[in-house]
Amino acid sequence: LGSAVLALSMAACSGDGAGSGGTDGDQPADLTIGVSMPTQTSERWIADGNSVKEKLEAKGYKVDLQYAGDDIPTQSQQVDQMITRGADVLIIAAIDGTALSGQLQAAADAKIPVVAYDRLIRDSPNVDFYVSFDNYKVGVAQATALLVGLGVQNKDGSKGDATGPFNIELFAGSLDDNNAHFFFDGAMDTLKPFIDDGTLKVKSGQNKIEQVAILRWQQEAAQRRMEDLLTSSYNDNSKVNGVLSPYDGLSRGIITALQNAGYRGAEFPVVTGQDAEIASVKLISDGVQSSTIFKDTRLLAEQAVVAGEAFLQEKTPEANDTETYNNGVKVVPSYLLPVQTVFADDIKPVLIDSGYFTAEEVAAGQ
Ligand code: BGC
Repeated sequence: LGSAVLALSMAACSGDGAGSGGTDGDQPADLTIGVSMPTQTSERWIADGNSVKEKLEAKGYKVDLQYAGDDIPTQSQQVDQMITRGADVLIIAAIDGTALSGQLQAAADAKIPVVAYDRLIRDSPNVDFYVSFDNYKVGVAQATALLVGLGVQNKDGSKGDATGPFNIELFAGSLDDNNAHFFFDGAMDTLKPFIDDGTLKVKSGQNKIEQVAILRWQQEAAQRRMEDLLTSSYNDNSKVNGVLSPYDGLSRGIITALQNAGYRGAEFPVVTGQDAEIASVKLISDGVQSSTIFKDTRLLAEQAVVAGEAFLQEKTPEANDTETYNNGVKVVPSYLLPVQTVFADDIKPVLIDSGYFTAEEVAAGQ
């Protein structure tokens, strides 16, 4: 009887019930990791979701992967369902960083650890770990790429030959995404001296994040804003020389607006980006977009798996940053990965030689 009772009580804390958390006796096959991704409209999140799933499944875990179509209620519902279906760990890339506190409380009540994936979840004490890139440095890299593209600065950081003045416009991501603020802050800290000394001029005067943000990072909205800027601020024969764009999807909208307005060839503005999306890598290779920031999602997925597995084994994942990411309630221990700037001549060494894309994919843009 004694052993039967023991077996029963072990079953009670195995991975089958909601919120069991990992326990020493569990085999990977008994454990489920809920993976909540924001959208499939951007290829990076598809790659992220697939990488996390493959890596966890290769270790024998069950994976419940859901995409929320950039709809906040859908994501809340999907996370609720992961909890009721008995997830043992949650890995979440939030659409709106402040909208999941209810779900996270339910997860905490059920003792399910939560890993915030790339986007910090704010205003909740129940975020156990954060895996991301150094998001402030992404912004610095974007602004630096703009300076290099304009010729104001050289790649080695020395002063470039061009002195301007150059007209630039600024874009930021979705205000409900914590990262958008880090990108913009890093970029503005880098551009400020050049704006202050007159090398760069934000001709529209729109230089606050609230004025330049694009809700849900939507390409069409970026295109419309660029069209509006050209109509309102460049109707006097002046030209825009550079655009700070924080994400390749926005960059493609901006580029479309510029092309429709007749910008071509050498006068085409320097446009930055992020994520090394294949369509944008082709635009860089074709000399249309100037640069992007490459964030290796394979490495991020790996870190998410390492953190998730540590929690399943009731260990604390190793952080390499314990001060930067205050989510409004606490500083969330983080593992941050480095990023790389990609201009046309970096495509081969950084993206192709590392196996991220093949030369054929770059040539085809898909
Ligand atoms: C990510 C970026 C991405 C953006 C839009 C951000 O949270 O860090 O890599 O470009 O979301 O999807």
